[in-house]
Amino acid sequence: MTFVRTVLSDITPAQLGRCYAHEHVIIGPSFTTHVCPEFLLDDVDRAAAELADFRRAGGGAMVDSMPCDSGRDILRLAEVSRRSGVHLICPTGLHLAKYYPPGHWGETLGAAELAALFVADITEGVDAFDYGAPVVRRTPHRAGVIKVATERQFTARDEKLLAAAAEAHCRTGCPILTHTEQGELALEQATRLRELGVDLRHVCLSHVDRRPDPGYHREVLSTGVRLEYDSAFRWPAERGNPTRDLLLALLPEFPDQLMLGMDAARRSYWRSYGGAPGLVFLLETFVPELRAAGLSDELLSRVLLATPASTYAFARAA
Ligand SMILES: [Zn+2]
Repeated sequence: MTFVRTVLSDITPAQLGRCYAHEHVIIGPSFTTHVCPEFLLDDVDRAAAELADFRRAGGGAMVDSMPCDSGRDILRLAEVSRRSGVHLICPTGLHLAKYYPPGHWGETLGAAELAALFVADITEGVDAFDYGAPVVRRTPHRAGVIKVATERQFTARDEKLLAAAAEAHCRTGCPILTHTEQGELALEQATRLRELGVDLRHVCLSHVDRRPDPGYHREVLSTGVRLEYDSAFRWPAERGNPTRDLLLALLPEFPDQLMLGMDAARRSYWRSYGGAPGLVFLLETFVPELRAAGLSDELLSRVLLATPASTYAFARAA
C-alpha cells in the first residue's frame, strides 16, 4: 500500500475510514453556479456542520469531485476538513464542457499542457485562484485524484481529457475519478484508460448505477475498474431501488470493486441548507437497508472502507 493524498496531508490508506467516493463538499461561485444556481455550496459553516454529523455517524472521508475552475475552492475545502475532522480528497482535472464558458482553456490547451497543470496540482499544490486568474499561487494543499468527464459519445475534448488524465496518472500514480453521463460509456472509458497505460485498480467510474443493467455492469467490472453508485436516494418510489438491487446482485461477485457516494451537488440534498436526506443518508439509512436485505458486514465494509482505501491510494510511492 502507498498513500492517500488528502487536502491536509498524505495519510495511509487505513487512516481514510468509511469513505464516500464521489461528493460535492464545496462548490464556489463560478460559471457552474451561474448556469446551475442550485449547485452553489459555498458555506463553510454549513459544510463543516454537515460533515461533523457524517463523522458522528461513523464516516471518515469524502472525495470531492469539483475539478479545476468549475467551482473548486481549495482553501474552503481545507477549512471544512480541519473543522469537521473528515479527510477530504481534492481533485484536479476538468469537468464537462457545459460547466465552462465558451473558449475556456480546457478547450484551447493540448493534452500535454493540461497534464502539466494537473501534475502541478498533485505535486506542488492546488492554485488558490483555481487556474482562473492570470497568475498561479500554489497553496500547501495538494490534489489527490484526477477528475475527468465524458459526454454520451466521446468528443475530441473527451479524448483529450482522458489522454491528459492518463499522462498525469502515469507520471504521479494519482488515482482517476470519472463522470459518466447517466452511466453511458463506462466500458469505453475503462478500455481507453487501460490502452493509455492506466492501472484500472486506481480508477473509479461514477454514476454507473444510473444505467442499472447488471449485465452491462458485469462487463465493465470484468476489466478490473472500480465503480461508484450514487443514486440510492434518487429513485422514484415506483422504481424500487435499482442501486440496492445492483449491490445485492454484484457485490458478492465483485467484492473489491464497488463503492458508494451521494454526489449531493444540490443544496436541497443537504440538511444544513434545509434539505433532505442529508449526507448521513448512506450510513444511517441505506447501509442498514442493505444489511437487512442480506449483505454481510464484511462485504459492506469493503464498499465503504477497503475499496476506497485501495482505489484512492496512489499507484506508487511518491
Ligand atoms: Zn458529481
